[in-house]
Amino acid sequence: MQTSETAALPQVFVERMRKLLGPEAEALFAALQANPVTGLRVNTLKLSSKRFAEISPWPLKPVPWCPAGFVLSTDAQAGKHPFHAVGLYYLQEPSAMAVAEALAPQAGELVLDLAAAPGGKAGHLSALMNNQSVIVANEVNRARARALTQNLERLGVRKAVITNEKPRRLARAWGAIFDRVLLDAPCSGEGLFRKSADALEMWSENNVLACAKRQDSLLDEAAALLRPGGVLVYSTCTFAPEENEQVIAAFLDRHPDFVLQSIDLAGVAPGRPDWLAAGVQKPALTKTVRLWPQLIAGEGHFIAKLQHRGEPDANIRPELSNNGFKPVSGQLKTLWQRLVKTTLSADPAQGRQLTTFGEQLYALPKTPHLSGLRTMRAGLWLATIKKDRLIPSHSLALALKANEIDREKTLELSPNDPRLKQYLQGHPLDDKGEDGWLLITVAGFPIGWGRRAKSIIKNAYPKGLRLA
Ligand code: SAM
Repeated sequence: MQTSETAALPQVFVERMRKLLGPEAEALFAALQANPVTGLRVNTLKLSSKRFAEISPWPLKPVPWCPAGFVLSTDAQAGKHPFHAVGLYYLQEPSAMAVAEALAPQAGELVLDLAAAPGGKAGHLSALMNNQSVIVANEVNRARARALTQNLERLGVRKAVITNEKPRRLARAWGAIFDRVLLDAPCSGEGLFRKSADALEMWSENNVLACAKRQDSLLDEAAALLRPGGVLVYSTCTFAPEENEQVIAAFLDRHPDFVLQSIDLAGVAPGRPDWLAAGVQKPALTKTVRLWPQLIAGEGHFIAKLQHRGEPDANIRPELSNNGFKPVSGQLKTLWQRLVKTTLSADPAQGRQLTTFGEQLYALPKTPHLSGLRTMRAGLWLATIKKDRLIPSHSLALALKANEIDREKTLELSPNDPRLKQYLQGHPLDDKGEDGWLLITVAGFPIGWGRRAKSIIKNAYPKGLRLA
């Protein structure tokens, strides 16, 4: 039966959900007619939630399962505010914030996000690890991998390795080396219905089944990358049991060396072992969780947390290395030190190997080997080499910590200063002062570089990011 609330939804989806949820399905359909929920996750790599609340232009309603997460009113245009360009937050629908919280990476661990673009969860994982250890963020789609790179740059992530590979090739290259792995799997996207007309149009039962098949093999590949005793989180933004409980039940059958762990997050609902195929009994699946749009402020997610039963094996700990990348010449090192001395108050590359990729100077963390793998970034891009000088990179500006910024070499602009708009549009600014590089800051946080010469600041804001 079609009602005004189900008219926009695929009929087969409506029938399936009525069969699964019974009378509660009508509440789901009503929720799917409402506006999507806008969420903001404070980027704790740059500031605490408390500090952000003091400067937030919008009222913030806490997300129960994520200490840095907030619900915004739907008319907040937080993506257009300069605080977004500065990387103070990431706009993420609230149920997606439960995923990194469930994986709960610890500083010092080696973490992999296998399907990472556009980077909401990779950014969240990096914030939880506080830039203390390496996260490998992989994305198979090249264009999406570029968006991932840009987002992690804006958030000031310093120790990411961004690869653009098929998961199978990573499993072959690295084997079981990661302490924690996230597979936020490509899915039929029922949780995107209120945000995306495409998700509605693309939906079909056949696609649900095709997604489930792909998820089975991706999950096997994710497991192959996890060290004995490690933790693997699987998530989707769809409601279909074929892509959720059934994928996990089949995985546990294929991998008796894994067990489900509870996910202790406030406000989430249990998974549904009663939705497994007839006769399949897996009561432990109540440890998986579901976030339903009719029950919480969010679009909907499924999350399973799996732990490998084995003990970590010292013999197969990953060889983290400088990858054979050559340290830079003494001359280049001197150029870098000069840039630090004239522009910053502490060296952000302190203790890290400097290396070059083409014309770009990087601070390299120790990483798993990268030979033969398509790598888009390894560590922090510091500067571009132009003959005998260095042009500081946008990545560097966005990754600087308070103690590394020389306040005498900054131009602070308030969010409503017309000069800030001019800067973001790519125009030069008039400003008296010493010649040389300086950081344009907003609320004390760098938004990009400029170079002052004869009282004019030449604009170094990246062309691709400029406002029209
Ligand atoms: N974790 C991301 C975030 O929080 O921003 C969202 C990831 S999205 C749900 C799933 C990703 O899987 C997409 O970026 C998509 O390009 C990628 N993908 C699609 N097919 C894939 C495949 N066969 N193997 C690996 N990744 C795939």
